[in-house]
Amino acid sequence: MSEKLVIELRWDPVLREWVMVSNIREHRPWRPSTFCPFCPGAPETSTGGSVLILENRFPMLVPNPPKVIPGEWPFIRAEAYGRCFVVVETPQHNLDDISDLPEEQIRLVVKELSKLFKELSKDRRLVYALWFRNKGEEIGVSLTHPHSQIYVLPYIPAKVFRELLSARDYWKEKNRCMFCDILVAELYSRERIVYENKSFVAFVPFWAHWPFEVHIYSRRHVGKLGELSENEIADLANILKVVLQSLKKVFEKPMPYIMVLHQAPLRGDYPFYHMHFEIYGMYRVSGKLKYAAGMETGGGNFTYDSTPERVASILREAVSRVLSRV
Ligand code: ZN
Ligand code: ZN
Ligand code: FE
Repeated sequence: MSEKLVIELRWDPVLREWVMVSNIREHRPWRPSTFCPFCPGAPETSTGGSVLILENRFPMLVPNPPKVIPGEWPFIRAEAYGRCFVVVETPQHNLDDISDLPEEQIRLVVKELSKLFKELSKDRRLVYALWFRNKGEEIGVSLTHPHSQIYVLPYIPAKVFRELLSARDYWKEKNRCMFCDILVAELYSRERIVYENKSFVAFVPFWAHWPFEVHIYSRRHVGKLGELSENEIADLANILKVVLQSLKKVFEKPMPYIMVLHQAPLRGDYPFYHMHFEIYGMYRVSGKLKYAAGMETGGGNFTYDSTPERVASILREAVSRVLSRV
């Protein structure tokens, strides 16, 4: 408790990426686990509405960060300017997943997010909004009330940065979008397609990293969530629901997963980028988690214990069970 509050960014000059450092958890009391801060009636939720976007109680980024001295190499710091939000996707506490919500409610979540991203893009110090969803006790999610998170960053996150570089190079060389071309190739092969509707396609990428990894691409070349039409938002809600429900069907029990939205940065021109979702279902076999262990965390390359083609066929079969509700 006596340690001073630190919320700052530290630059890793070896890997060339930022680390968010915050000891705020040591400064705020932990609450009893029986208390749900996202249920109607909790002080945080007093503003009402069926989708709530709240400030995270343990933010890594804040609108009024402590001043830091940039420092001299190799000890480079920056102010942790940004926002951390929690998206409470429904007032209902006793649901397992966002995919248990009706499609209309998922649509509402997407619309609220688009609105927020547009608002945030007016702040010139904010660079990127990352929406992600951590699901499952196995990966440390203790609050069961359906929720996801948004980190609004003063820089482009490392993985998206890498994608932007390869998409830009591809665009320069071929004058086409890399993601559009990947989608065409997957649709032509069909081997790894999991589910599709009028506006979106879900597939296991040829180079999947995680056991049940599914990517969802929009058919139309769209850079950001906020550019989707009404119909596309409805189709997005549909495909998210079907794909996430199918993850539960594979082993007939909820599968821990991480889902993330990759979209273009808040401002600036990125005509070569194409928004998509990435979902990493983490069971290798029923109840057994895949860990990012020595090779993955230490070496940076993944090992895959099956084939993406086989996993796609398992997921297609799960989708057909979801659609026929058996
Ligand atoms: Zn609750
Ligand atoms: Zn594209
Ligand atoms: Fe991506």
